[in-house]
Amino acid sequence: MKALKIAIQKSGRLNEKSVELLKNCGLSFENYKSSLITSVANFPLEILFLRDDDIPEYVQDGIADLGIVGENVIKEKEVSVEYLQALGFGKCTLKIAIPKEKPLNYIDDLNGKSIATSYPIILQKFLDQHQIKADIRTISGSVEIGPGLGLSDAICDIVSTGSTLRNNGLEPFADVLSSQAILIGKKDIKEHSVVEELLQRVQSVLRAKE
Ligand code: ATP
Ligand code: ZN
Repeated sequence: MKALKIAIQKSGRLNEKSVELLKNCGLSFENYKSSLITSVANFPLEILFLRDDDIPEYVQDGIADLGIVGENVIKEKEVSVEYLQALGFGKCTLKIAIPKEKPLNYIDDLNGKSIATSYPIILQKFLDQHQIKADIRTISGSVEIGPGLGLSDAICDIVSTGSTLRNNGLEPFADVLSSQAILIGKKDIKEHSVVEELLQRVQSVLRAKE
């Protein structure tokens, strides 16, 4: 049988937990940091190690059949993939934050303001839902320094502990998206017997953790 492929993050916040989950599912493989692909000895699956940003498109396009990636990345890429299972790790929240010394009271107060973010698609949808017209400044990283440099009035970024915000004189203002790691699949792959088997194992690992 031709092995299916699952894409997981090569290194970063989701790598270790993704590897651990697959191992807890009884899959036996070498976690070669240097190779991009590794095969599983006792299950018809190959593991691709990729940058998280590439995973949704690889799965949508069928280069990988399955993937493990944050919901924040899936939503930002606007891909068409199936959510097979929320995995309960990689939890974080995409938030709008504002400078402490320039507080706002209501969501509507964002009208006419500029917001720096690496998540322009998700942010635009949020603003549309609230009928707010703001100027989105897309930057690829370190968005927290935006307000201090006069680049933007606010930011929209992933927050977990809030210490990066505080260190940059910012405070949380509004929650935009709660995210966690999701097992995704390309269209119709859920019916594949190998995926059914893997999904059952994943679900029993998750139940054992409850
Ligand atoms: P890559 O090199 O694969 O592109 P990255 O630097 O974009 O990695 P990481 O910082 O490793 O990404 O984060 C991966 C995912 O972990 C995020 O997309 C998000 O879903 C989740 N996550 C959980 N907590 C946090 C956090 N505190 N900050 C950022 N991401 C977090
Ligand atoms: Zn990334």
